[in-house]
Amino acid sequence: QPPRDETDIRRLDDDTVARIAAGEVVERPASAVKELVENSLDADASTIDVTVDAGGTELVRVADDGRGMSEADVRAAVREHTTSKIDGLDDIESGVTTLGFRGEALHTIGSVSRLTIRSRPQDGDDAGTELVYEGGEVESVEPAGCPAGTTVEVADLFYNTPARRKFLKTTATEFAHVNRIVTRYALANPDVAVSLTHDGREVFSTTGQGDLQAAVLAVYGREVAAAMIPVEADGDELPPGPLEGVSGLVSHPETNRASREYLATYVNDRAVTADAVREGIMGAYGTQLGSDRYPFVVLFHDAPGEAVDVNVHPRKREVRFDDDDAVRRQVDAAVESALLDHGLLRSRAPRG
Ligand code: ADP
Ligand code: MG
Repeated sequence: QPPRDETDIRRLDDDTVARIAAGEVVERPASAVKELVENSLDADASTIDVTVDAGGTELVRVADDGRGMSEADVRAAVREHTTSKIDGLDDIESGVTTLGFRGEALHTIGSVSRLTIRSRPQDGDDAGTELVYEGGEVESVEPAGCPAGTTVEVADLFYNTPARRKFLKTTATEFAHVNRIVTRYALANPDVAVSLTHDGREVFSTTGQGDLQAAVLAVYGREVAAAMIPVEADGDELPPGPLEGVSGLVSHPETNRASREYLATYVNDRAVTADAVREGIMGAYGTQLGSDRYPFVVLFHDAPGEAVDVNVHPRKREVRFDDDDAVRRQVDAAVESALLDHGLLRSRAPRG
């Protein structure tokens, strides 16, 4: 049993901070949800329950059954630039495997809200801790009876920054952003049971059984799930290019929407958008889709790190490849062959 004040969460050195601190700004409730869900995934949670009220403007709560934190951990976690995930620049250069590493989220969210963290470590027989943080100050730290894992509550986001609060959109719009974020993570982690509740009503919950098809069913419902077909192309089945594999599910062309929102694309398991990927997908469907119609897609792309332009800016979800043209051809080929296998494409070759 380590001494009670020992923690792995430490402050990054100033050089590292200067390099990576692109100023993580919490724009809206969905940004807080994203950070908290990433923390839960980084803590190896197998269950993540997301609850929001009024689109997240009144309350965001993320409860997990992950590793949990000791009292010393919780105290350290809300400080500026503190993380347990990297030691410094060397770790970033050799490739970070966690979703977070900047050590900014809890501090930043806590400086524009009333933040409560309840946590108890999985290992050891430490009691739980409840820390209340308000507008950037620790208000109280008390022992708390709580299950192993972590629950973070963000209440009254922007209560102390009225200018930013004014920029929040309607509850429906804020909730749509939250829903999109939680959906992306639920689909990328079918082995984690993810639930989303809005104003007391469950929006979806995945089983965590590890089946992507089942996660799609839970998130999008029966009609969409029934229209999904598998894509599975290894590097040697793809045209030449940086991608080493494309896999996932894409919908029958007739099951489409007038929004790009349902193109859930991932590169090396990160939820990102990439023009080359989107254009490859749309190219495969060709004229099967009307103009401004998009399929449902949950598509994972593997590429060596050096082929992806990893933007260190925390808010950018857009990525580029060193050879976007090749990626476009690879994605097009992978999706087209899945659609052809299922007889869902009219032949592109001219007849006769
Ligand atoms: P980062 O994720 O970049 O390290 P955060 O401010 O999001 O920075 O979190 C700070 C630290 O608090 C993390 O490095 C981690 O050690 C701890 N932490 C945050 N959320 C959780 C959680 N849900 N479960 C366990 N530990 C957590
Ligand atoms: Mg984090």
